[in-house]
Amino acid sequence: MSASRGVSFISGAQLLSLKRRPNIAIIDVRDDERSYDGHIPGSLHYASDGFSDRMSDLVRAVRGKDTLVFHCALSQVRGPTCARRLANYLEEMKVDEGIKNILVLEKGYNGWEASGKPTCRCGDAPCNGHGIQ
Ligand SMILES: [Zn+2]
Repeated sequence: MSASRGVSFISGAQLLSLKRRPNIAIIDVRDDERSYDGHIPGSLHYASDGFSDRMSDLVRAVRGKDTLVFHCALSQVRGPTCARRLANYLEEMKVDEGIKNILVLEKGYNGWEASGKPTCRCGDAPCNGHGIQ
């Protein structure tokens, strides 16, 4: 039923090359780790704990974006789960905000950081993303 919005993976290298496009939103669904492990510059934070309750806020926050990239620490459980949950929500609520791609970052934040990609340690919410462009 939601095959049209199936969740697929994107590698860190692919994400880095796409990241300069203004129509991508990166959604970090880690919980407390975000505050002490750093984050991808410019990413939004919607913790997996309580994620379902904030999906309508999330849809508002990403208005105008056509590609959403979810991740958690390893993108094995929380990242894909929240991505599917949002895909189902859009399907069931018949929300059409122009979101075409819902992706999950392979290997999550830990893989991103381990491969030397840019990270940010600001305490701002939302992160303004300085330092990536
Ligand atoms: Zn930041």
